Amino acid sequence: MNSIQILPSIVSDKIAAGEVAERPSAVVKELVENSVDAGADHITVEIKKGGIEYIRVEDNGCGIPPEQAEIAFLRHATSKLRNIDELYEIHTMGFRGEALASICAVAEVELITKTKGADEGLYLRMQHAKPTEKQSMPCGDGTTMIVKNLFSNVPARMKFLKKDSTEAGYVADLLGRIALSRPDIAFKYICDDKEIFSTNGDGNLKNAVLRIYGLDHARAVIEVDYTEENIHVKGVVGKPELARGNRTRQTLFVNGRYVKNHVAAKVVEEAYRNSIMVGRFPFFVLDIRLAPELVDVNVHPAKTEVKFANEKQIYDVCYHAVRNAIYSNDETQNEKTEKPSSNAGHRLNRAVFEPREAENTVRTTPGIVKEYMKNTIPTGRSEVLGGVKKSSFLAENKEDNIFDSFENKGVKSDFALYGEPQNGGAAQIKMEQPCDDGDDGEKSFSIVGQVFDTYVLYRSGDELFMIDQHAAHERFRFESLKKSYSNREKFSQMLMSPAVLSLGFAEKQTVKDNLTEFRNLGFELDDFGGTSIIVHGAPIVADEKEIHDLVLELAEAMHERRKHPVADFEERALDMIACKYAIKANKKLTYEEMRDLIKKTDAMEKDGIKTCPHGRPIKISFSKKDIEKMFKRRI
Ligand code: ADP
Ligand code: MG
Repeated sequence: MNSIQILPSIVSDKIAAGEVAERPSAVVKELVENSVDAGADHITVEIKKGGIEYIRVEDNGCGIPPEQAEIAFLRHATSKLRNIDELYEIHTMGFRGEALASICAVAEVELITKTKGADEGLYLRMQHAKPTEKQSMPCGDGTTMIVKNLFSNVPARMKFLKKDSTEAGYVADLLGRIALSRPDIAFKYICDDKEIFSTNGDGNLKNAVLRIYGLDHARAVIEVDYTEENIHVKGVVGKPELARGNRTRQTLFVNGRYVKNHVAAKVVEEAYRNSIMVGRFPFFVLDIRLAPELVDVNVHPAKTEVKFANEKQIYDVCYHAVRNAIYSNDETQNEKTEKPSSNAGHRLNRAVFEPREAENTVRTTPGIVKEYMKNTIPTGRSEVLGGVKKSSFLAENKEDNIFDSFENKGVKSDFALYGEPQNGGAAQIKMEQPCDDGDDGEKSFSIVGQVFDTYVLYRSGDELFMIDQHAAHERFRFESLKKSYSNREKFSQMLMSPAVLSLGFAEKQTVKDNLTEFRNLGFELDDFGGTSIIVHGAPIVADEKEIHDLVLELAEAMHERRKHPVADFEERALDMIACKYAIKANKKLTYEEMRDLIKKTDAMEKDGIKTCPHGRPIKISFSKKDIEKMFKRRI
């Protein structure tokens, strides 16, 4: 074995650099945190080629005095920590004095800096931890750090990097979160010469949410501002409709620092219990502020994990903060009595937070559930959204004529055969309507009617059948989309007036990265600047909101696919489209529509298709015998 030696600093620096600067986004994080600590209110981040070739972080902060510039690059050089006691009372972002040393061990770094009031600034060039150029230079107040050719001297690290666009995405994600943590700072992110997003630094978190996640998020967030026992929880939480299939839109800060804490995320999710479907996760941006000595941010070198001194109490306060916010919002919307002051530590439910076992604790807010139902359970969309928007879309689909009538006919025509609906969703079984057109070899059947606005009842021979209208139509649409897709037929529908959709920057990036795929799926869309895209054609005839939802769902699925490749991705995507286009539950059907649906179901059955794309049955049957047995006419 080799003898034990102290590692030369060049080696140990590289090892440490692996912890602090493991990829471009980690370098950006350190540099931006330094800018924040320097009191900047304008920070620009620019990267090229995923940040591997070039990173620039420019701020208008306090600057570094010329005589200290080189010291800043030494290991454990920090202006933020003087002794061990201070380690537990960190108020600033950085404190280990490691970042600059680590970065310059694995890259070339240029520093341009000027303190306020100084006549001239300084230019310093560090190449692999050694100063190679230093001179005074005229420049504005603040600091610019330029990091070039990251890991060019550590080829092993390079191997762990993903492709440029993925690394750029990590930088965007990180910077987005930092921008959310400091709405008072104007951030700008430029990638390969294009501005990806910018925030205006007006101190309003909702405005930062708007710039980063788009208008639909900014409109559907509820403010949280709650203090109890010296723990202050502040930020925004999304209404249930912003829930997504993953947790990428959950942002948690502790004393302004972005952290990962699964327990806290669970606690927030717990506050939404019963208002968001299982497998969906709420949107939130929350900052937990508490005495710095109660939190240990020093457990992880990159400082994204935290430990709390009094976990249970903190989680308890978080839970109530979120619950109060959701409740209060609901009450304001319903114009009920006084809204409880959300920051008075007043709890709507005094029960201390208990983890999930306490199944029977009632934590539902009827109003939220109602709203959730409105937004997620399929209902007759045309009723909810009105026919105005819809009429701006061309509804032309020859192959599926009857079902266009679901989209085009007003609600009124649906009542034509059955008269006005009685007491909402009550059963409306009408006289059996014979439909004995057994001409083209089809089995004859007679329609009994529709129940609960969701199931079609009909009789054929000695059997009574019940069809789930959404399941049946979704499967039908899915099959025909699949056929068009595999025959490379164009199934895009041109919209009469194009829809401009405001997305989050991450979604927009995903759409841009998967443009061909979107086109193959029947979308005709283009970049519309900022975080928007313009849609000229879509695979379905739908209103703007549905197209918006569909684009987001597809983008989310495409994003997810990068992590877990799915073999039958196209099928999944087509199913998402089919699901949006299919007639919904809670939708009255005309006699013609029912007849058509029954025929389609029969045809699918002949091809052995008996379930919706998710495996739920399309049709169930009762034989006359079964019914007689139920009535004890037969034993
Ligand atoms: P830390 O942030 O943990 O102190 P760093 O290696 O990141 O360690 O930075 C070392 C020191 O360099 C900081 O303590 C600070 O004094 C100075 N510094 C770094 N970046 C900036 C900046 N953008 N503006 C002003 N000072 C800076
Ligand atoms: Mg630092």
